[in-house]
Amino acid sequence: MRFIKRDWNDKPAILTKQSTLDALTTLVSLPETTIKDSIYRGTYKNEQNLTKSSVIDKLNIYYHHKCAYCETLSTPEVEHYRPKRSVEEETSHRGYYWLSYEWSNLLPACHDCNKRGSKGTRFPINGDRVFMPPFNENGTIDFSKFKVDTEVLLNERPYLLHPEIDNPTKFLSFERDYKNDGIAICGIDIEGERGNKTIEICQLNREPLKIARGKLIDNIVLTINLCLKMLDLGEIGNIKKGLIELFKIEKEKSIDITQEHILFRTLIITNEEIFEQIILSKLELSQQSIVSEAFKAYKNGDL
Ligand SMILES: [Zn+2]
Repeated sequence: MRFIKRDWNDKPAILTKQSTLDALTTLVSLPETTIKDSIYRGTYKNEQNLTKSSVIDKLNIYYHHKCAYCETLSTPEVEHYRPKRSVEEETSHRGYYWLSYEWSNLLPACHDCNKRGSKGTRFPINGDRVFMPPFNENGTIDFSKFKVDTEVLLNERPYLLHPEIDNPTKFLSFERDYKNDGIAICGIDIEGERGNKTIEICQLNREPLKIARGKLIDNIVLTINLCLKMLDLGEIGNIKKGLIELFKIEKEKSIDITQEHILFRTLIITNEEIFEQIILSKLELSQQSIVSEAFKAYKNGDL
């Protein structure tokens, strides 16, 4: 998961239509009304007569075709951050039906993160659960309180991180998973344990994700080894220069937001502790000190 800046006013046309507003008004007054997936998906047929989603089209602009939770390239589904029809942790809850068509409540998620057994209808909180839509004093719907960063919704204190509100770097880090030589994601916030809970809700340590992160590391380690081998006969200053160039290339890759696992790539190349724990520990002892020195020099901007 990485932090995303999405313009909550830049809504797909379907969500601003009068007919959507009418459907929402009906839904709020009669919660048992069917929630229309044709609205929250913005279903349409393209030139090849294939069914497409204008909501996913718009989300893809901000998320670059990646899942909001696991950062894997996928054909995303429209995920309701606050579930629309029921809440697994609160059996008497009817779901946040009034947020079914709320742009800031819609995220792109891959099937594996979104399915039952993963996120599904889960939404555990540590605060006061909201059961009803917000109304004005005169009894009309208060649409101004639908956004996910509205005070009453934030007061629910959700465990699940929202990639447009909560900066994942404050909650998530990575460590070696020695069981399968992959890389596990782990929570680092102490008080709320929102990091670990998010990992558990979305199953972010499922095997294919750990292995995919591990492969990224294997490639970096392989390049470091090649670099050391090629420069073996050279003098030590040149070896360091070569390694620094290599780290610069990795840094470039980590800011290419169209790539998968950007949070992981960024932390590897910017956080000394993570670099040491994950990259250095995979190198032979005799190589570790020169690579560590080169990484420190790269961090300090020395050439
Ligand atoms: Zn996912």
